[in-house]
Amino acid sequence: MRAFFRLFYLDTSDPELMRAQFSSFQGHIPLLYVILVCNTVAITVTSFNAAALVKTLLAPIAISSIAMSRAIWWLRQGDTQKFSDAELARHLWRTCLLAVIMTLTFNAWVIWVYQDAGAYARSNLTFFLALSQVSTVFCLMTLRAAAMRVSVVSTIAFALYFSWVEGGQLLPQSLVLCCVCIGMAVVTHSFNRSFSEVVQSRRTLHIRQLQTEKLSEENRRIAFSDPLSGLPNRRELLARLDRLEQRQGLLANSLAIVFIDLDGFKTVNDEHGHHAGDELIRTVCQRLREQCPDNAILARVGGDEFTVLLETDGNTENAQASALTLGLRLLEQMALPVLVDRHVLQISGSIGIASNTDSDVNPRELLRRADLAMYHAKTEGKGQVAIYSDELDKGRLRRIEIEGQIGSGLGSNEFDLVYQPIIDAASGAIVAAEALLRWPRRAEGALSPDEFIHVAEATGQIHPLGLYVLERACRDIEPIGGLCLSVNVSPAQFRHPGFEQQVLKIIEQTGFVPERLQLEMTESYLLTNPGMAIKAMNTLKAAGISLALDDFGTGFTSIHYLKSYGFTHIKIDKSLLQGLEPDSKATMLVAGAVTLARALDMSVIAEGVEHEAQASILRDLGCHEMQGYLFGKPVPLAEFKSMLNCAGKRPQQPQSLRIAR
Ligand code: C2E
Ligand code: CA
Ligand code: CA
Repeated sequence: MRAFFRLFYLDTSDPELMRAQFSSFQGHIPLLYVILVCNTVAITVTSFNAAALVKTLLAPIAISSIAMSRAIWWLRQGDTQKFSDAELARHLWRTCLLAVIMTLTFNAWVIWVYQDAGAYARSNLTFFLALSQVSTVFCLMTLRAAAMRVSVVSTIAFALYFSWVEGGQLLPQSLVLCCVCIGMAVVTHSFNRSFSEVVQSRRTLHIRQLQTEKLSEENRRIAFSDPLSGLPNRRELLARLDRLEQRQGLLANSLAIVFIDLDGFKTVNDEHGHHAGDELIRTVCQRLREQCPDNAILARVGGDEFTVLLETDGNTENAQASALTLGLRLLEQMALPVLVDRHVLQISGSIGIASNTDSDVNPRELLRRADLAMYHAKTEGKGQVAIYSDELDKGRLRRIEIEGQIGSGLGSNEFDLVYQPIIDAASGAIVAAEALLRWPRRAEGALSPDEFIHVAEATGQIHPLGLYVLERACRDIEPIGGLCLSVNVSPAQFRHPGFEQQVLKIIEQTGFVPERLQLEMTESYLLTNPGMAIKAMNTLKAAGISLALDDFGTGFTSIHYLKSYGFTHIKIDKSLLQGLEPDSKATMLVAGAVTLARALDMSVIAEGVEHEAQASILRDLGCHEMQGYLFGKPVPLAEFKSMLNCAGKRPQQPQSLRIAR
């Protein structure tokens, strides 16, 4: 019973269904009214009676006018989106009500006309009445409540009246109409169910589509941004560069890329853990972001690599000049200390800049150029800005060439060692030899270590090369009893895990006394890897090896700071000796270094001594040892041995010499 009454109930709880119903029958209702008007006109024509003008003319005019005005109203409604849900519900209620009122009015009018009509007109009337009823129900099919109400109201009115008039002669027609009515109710019901299902599945589809869109948007966001910093990642940067390439009329000097690489980030990760590394990246990102102008796009393109894409108009503002100003500002920011996990970390950044100096340069090519310039800034001492030039590319090609040759050169014994004497400043006796690498049998021509050592450092080939030098030098010098050996060690070798153990193994294998060995290293390694440096140096020192700081005077480190690392010697760089004249600035500098080193119980070696005048000043200043062309150039082992013999200064008391160092 409840289900039966539900058929007549107008459900406005689902706004989407309501909207779908409204738009569906919006197009049918004007048709319904047109059919009603046609039927009214047909009835008027067949039953017109001049004596009953109200009934046969005025009444149908009134019905038709109302029907036409409603049809026009419906035609003018257009899009349902302009109605709120409440307005829509009101319109549906009104439609249901009007459908019943119009049906009853039409039925009442037909019955009224029927009473005075002739036999022919009566059959016409029943036909048009039934026709109106059926067409009304079909037109209202999507609005079940209205369709059901109309069909019940009109069927009851029709059946009651026509089973009563004319002595029940029309009873069969009434019964047929009742059957038609039931049939239409069943069809309306099932049509409505399907209609609701379609609306429901459309809604599900729409929700799924929204979810898919949201998901793909999320995927896009993840794919194109860096989760740690939230900045665009490398893929996003490349996509932007590709879009720039597509753009027509990109002016020269309107595009620049600033490529930033943090110096010492790996050490922070190694020594303080990845959590600290992440924290550091976040802080750096924040600082970089604050410095970037609004038109710049900052991206994180690698673990510790960032880029800034700068676009200017190319006329009033030159992209390269803007990039340089920005790059210098970014350097300052990166050099500020960072507090991570209660540790104050000091890092720096190396920056490379490339700009489209002519409009033909591909934006992706700019990225490569900026990267190359950054690499140059890094190898030239870090913490600086370098601007791309064609020369850098040539240098890169040369490096690639050398890189390939080092490996094969080691395999085919192309390298050699030469030895340069180091003399005791007071006695003039040769106390040690510095082993220096040479590449005389290189197929393409000999190369100086200044040219190939930094390539080997950058590619990691310095490890096999460095171990080769150490082993060869230990074997060469070991038989020269008492003579100390100095071997250069590149910072890159210290970074190699297990380096100390490899050194100790070579000493053991060659039978070299560790106390005769000195390793020379530059300070750059200490600054970037303080923790690891101390560990490695302690192991080597514990084995009896002494450590000398090479190239002193070219960096910024204070002697006091170096003492804390356990250096036993400092080696004053030859560049400092150039201006070594009485009372010169250089002399004062060397004097200060010697005084401080002596106070800290460190020995001072001066390298690059070419003139007797320099040697005499150095002796007066209290320098312990000297090395330079004045005493002997680097020479092959055989020559070095005869140099020792000729000079007759071969040390006779190895132990005391050792102590003297
Ligand atoms: P360094 O360690 O500072 O070596 C001293 C350099 O100064 C040597 O150049 C030497 O020949 C040169 N020299 C010595 N006395 C004088 C002098 O009186 N006047 C002048 N003008 N120069 C003098 P070399 O042999 O060309 O080595 C250059 C650099 O290459 C070295 O500088 C060192 O940093 C690197 N190197 C050489 N051999 C090795 C090696 O086996 N391993 C590593 N890691 N680096 C090496
Ligand atoms: Ca050296
Ligand atoms: Ca040097």
